[in-house]
Amino acid sequence: MIEDKNQQRTQLNDLGEFGLIDHLTKNFEAKHKSTIKGIGDDAAVIDNVDKQIVVTTDLLVEGVHFDLSYAPLKHLGYKAVIVNLSDVYAMNAEATQITVSIAVSNRFPLEALEELYSGIETASKVYNVDVVGGDTTSSTSGLLISVTAIGEVKSNDVVYRNGAKPNDLLVVTGDLGGAYMGLQVLEREKEVFKVNPNNQPDLDAYTYIMERQLKPEARKDIVKLLKDMEVKPTAMIDISDGLSSEILHICKASKVGCDLYEDKIPLDPQVISTCEEFNLDSTMIALNGGEDYELLMTVSQDDYPKIKANPNLTVIGFMTEENAGANLVTRAETKVPLQAQGWKNFSD
Ligand code: ADP
Ligand code: MG
Repeated sequence: MIEDKNQQRTQLNDLGEFGLIDHLTKNFEAKHKSTIKGIGDDAAVIDNVDKQIVVTTDLLVEGVHFDLSYAPLKHLGYKAVIVNLSDVYAMNAEATQITVSIAVSNRFPLEALEELYSGIETASKVYNVDVVGGDTTSSTSGLLISVTAIGEVKSNDVVYRNGAKPNDLLVVTGDLGGAYMGLQVLEREKEVFKVNPNNQPDLDAYTYIMERQLKPEARKDIVKLLKDMEVKPTAMIDISDGLSSEILHICKASKVGCDLYEDKIPLDPQVISTCEEFNLDSTMIALNGGEDYELLMTVSQDDYPKIKANPNLTVIGFMTEENAGANLVTRAETKVPLQAQGWKNFSD
């Protein structure tokens, strides 16, 4: 990685700010006709005629949101884009453009930023978004990455957090808890490595969950799937802080309650086995682990026949009247109020 003495290290000072920007952004070409002007002027110009525009930003800070001792820069660039696209898809919108801003200390050589940008470029290709601008500045310590994503949606199609009604089905995509358990494995290996740098860990048993942590994907496919199935969720949110916290956001915004069934929560076998190994409760991990970037939605009962056979969608509960509260119905059939623990970086 960046400390590897065999690799070339080109000092950022040698390039200057504009040389750096030109170098990092030279491969970016506009793919969307709505991108009228991309990188190179004082501002980008976007023409989303007839569509509503959604805009979302996330800021990632070294030492708070990522640790470069195990997160390769290529993956970090990819992930920085994904976390934003996930928010666009949660509005039931199509992501079209992103901007990328970085603050970087001189301890990073150019080659490190090339890695970062290769991940950004890959994500922009895979998700079909144009990189239309950004900002570049120095930082006194570490690396900061801020991505802004822009998307478009027909005004009738936009889905907010506040549309859930009592009796709606609570539906989640994919499976949960993988990213958090991947992080547990990576942190354990980091400690092992500190003690014995020659130790070559066998991580085959953890490939899925490590990938969920290091190279997450956003559910662009679900926006298309819902459109193809002619299902418009009544509310939707992406799962960045854990299922529990996201359910509570929908309940609060929509003024409803909910019953979430513990035995319905989708878990990958690797999450279950790693939870056993770490002596953690897999339900707690699905509820409170973060960064899965799946979508959580509420769907009218009328749409149940359309969604029921789809392997991407799992019904995990239903919405209730607000005064019933938001509850977990456990395997023992007791009701426990859901709590928003999340794994907010403020408390770490
Ligand atoms: P300004 O002085 O107007 O802020 P800059 O010199 O910072 O302009 O940027 C020049 C062009 O390069 C602009 O189009 C800007 O959006 C783009 N840009 C700057 N930094 C980045 C970056 N890190 N990634 C992508 N585009 C960038
Ligand atoms: Mg600038």
